[in-house]
Amino acid sequence: MSALVIRGLRKRFGGQEVLKGIDLQAESGEFIVLVGPSGCGKSTLLNIIAGLEQPDLGQVEIAGRVVNQVPPKDRDIAMVFQSYALYPTMTVRQNITFGMECRNVAKPQREAAVASTARLLQIEALLDRKPSQLSGGQRQRVAMGRALVRDPLLFLFDEPLSNLDAKLRVEMRMEIKQLHRRIGSTMVYVTHDQIEAMTMATRIAVMHQGEVQQFADPDTIYSRPANLFVARFMGAPP
Ligand code: ADP
Ligand code: MG
Repeated sequence: MSALVIRGLRKRFGGQEVLKGIDLQAESGEFIVLVGPSGCGKSTLLNIIAGLEQPDLGQVEIAGRVVNQVPPKDRDIAMVFQSYALYPTMTVRQNITFGMECRNVAKPQREAAVASTARLLQIEALLDRKPSQLSGGQRQRVAMGRALVRDPLLFLFDEPLSNLDAKLRVEMRMEIKQLHRRIGSTMVYVTHDQIEAMTMATRIAVMHQGEVQQFADPDTIYSRPANLFVARFMGAPP
């Protein structure tokens, strides 16, 4: 069973057709990267997978279940955005456990979950700080911790590193990749950065104007681009 299957997804905003029939799938444990220029529909696609937007047509299936009618909180997904959206008045620990408190998870379980998540992300020393006392990279780690602690079937990332400087971006790229190897969850990661796509993905979907131009592993994208757009955008000679 695939972790995620998307069939014939279409979406319009007013007169603009933003998604023109998207088909994609992710096998369990895959790291899928959606890459393409700004405005090509990446966030819209991710938001539809998360349930934050409704498709006009088509189907989203997570772990064998059609979820079109399922509200976001019942989809067993966790999302990490570009803006960290941490609660400024809460400590790191509270930021990570807040969701669990809302779901009435018992305190010992919450503490165990925070401890293992903090260890995995190496933020144990930061648990009692406030977001304002953290660097950009540390904040992004806490945002990932908040997603991780939920142990979802599917992680969705929307340009999580684009607010960071270049050096940190490279470091965090490696960290997310290692995290993926360690926990083995299925991840769908949106970026406009070709190098990020090439270095992180098991498979890449190259998007342009609401369509997937090519869906393949990085080697194939690089050595056999499906068309001129893919060749130019991914930086290989046509
Ligand atoms: P990307 O994430 O690839 O930059 P988006 O999915 O955010 O692209 O946007 C795709 C297109 O849809 C853009 O032209 C954007 O302006 C438009 N769009 C996105 N969300 C909305 C919305 N809620 N209402 C109207 N237009 C939207
Ligand atoms: Mg976007």
